[in-house]
Amino acid sequence: MPFDRATVRDLDPAGKAVLVRVDFNVPLDDGRVADDTRIRAALPTIELLVSKGARIILASHLGRPDGRPDPDLSLAPVAVRLAELLGRPVRFCPEVVGTRATEMASELGPGDVLLLENLRFEPGETSDDEGLASDLAALADLYVNDAFGAAHRSHASTAGVARHLPAVAGLLLEQEVSRLSAVAESPERPLVVVLGGAKVSDKIGLVSRFLEIADELLIGGAMCFPFFRSQGIETGNSLCEEEGVSLASDLLDLADRSDCELRLPVDLVAGRDFSAETEVSTLDSNSVPDGWMGLDIGPATARGYAEAISGAATILWNGPMGAFELDPFSDGTRTVAEAVAGADGLTVVGGGDSVAALNRFGLEDSVDWVSTGGGASLELLEGRSLPGVEALGRA
Ligand code: ADP
Ligand code: MG
Repeated sequence: MPFDRATVRDLDPAGKAVLVRVDFNVPLDDGRVADDTRIRAALPTIELLVSKGARIILASHLGRPDGRPDPDLSLAPVAVRLAELLGRPVRFCPEVVGTRATEMASELGPGDVLLLENLRFEPGETSDDEGLASDLAALADLYVNDAFGAAHRSHASTAGVARHLPAVAGLLLEQEVSRLSAVAESPERPLVVVLGGAKVSDKIGLVSRFLEIADELLIGGAMCFPFFRSQGIETGNSLCEEEGVSLASDLLDLADRSDCELRLPVDLVAGRDFSAETEVSTLDSNSVPDGWMGLDIGPATARGYAEAISGAATILWNGPMGAFELDPFSDGTRTVAEAVAGADGLTVVGGGDSVAALNRFGLEDSVDWVSTGGGASLELLEGRSLPGVEALGRA
């Protein structure tokens, strides 16, 4: 389905104040931005608005300050980095709404950029408080949502302001929704989906969804252990959420009736504990003995998964195949990452740690789309609608 919302390209914002919700939820280290991927991802929308002569007011959350100011979670370092990337000054407002914010917003000229303080310093942000929503809206004439990473939340800055102002999508939000829905709704076949990582209960919904859509579903990471335990296979000390086991059993039944082939690891790499210095053993089956934990898919599994990926027309990868941060357990993730990067098919990668793995192996430029949104991308791929998108005007 083509993207059906109005976008920033449809706006004529010259001289108008435009409130842009961005996702600048970046890691900070010692008062500096440690990874600016999300800031870079917002540049096309900001640059377009600058070129059209808009007066730009940016708003974002950072971390979870729980409705109170927290100096460690100030967006001030982000303003510094953004100014470097844009090559123009970025003013920083030490509050979200209030007299100072109103004043600074009114002082903006065409092409000027202002960044407001962390939205979540305001208790009304996450509760979608009507007062905060209307105060934010009062700063501007138009609203652009480019914060795909927050689009699955009904917050004052995502859903609330859109009730007060003409609301359109930013370029990143548009790209994310179009790219991810294309994979989930009209993929070129075969579609191969690779799921791993640790947050099994978050991702189990994706398994049932892709059992209906994909041609092959390859499971790795800690995701495999609920499946094994539900089949009575020993999982030793492996990370295995108990609540996932009965769900996994239902999913195995679903897989039996589905045209999608569900594949689980046939071999594993195990360690005594979660550490790079631990004793390591390659197990030639999927059964993990007592005293060991499965920390990576084994070489035969990795080869088989890489082959399936190479033959696919569309590949979606979410979640590392093992504890890739630890050298002895990084091979499975590396093999899969290299296969994804080298594939001829359309490749889409989502999930913070999967993207970190791609970066670690220097492969981030070899995939077609790297999603910036964790939870939002999972919800979209599951087929749920995103409140931040629903709130926007139709094209
Ligand atoms: P993403 O951020 O890509 O969605 P997750 O957050 O779900 O991925 O999972 C990433 C984490 O999963 C990594 O920190 C990795 O160490 C961990 N992990 C992967 N496989 C295992 C495993 N077998 N046992 C323990 N942790 C694992
Ligand atoms: Mg993660």
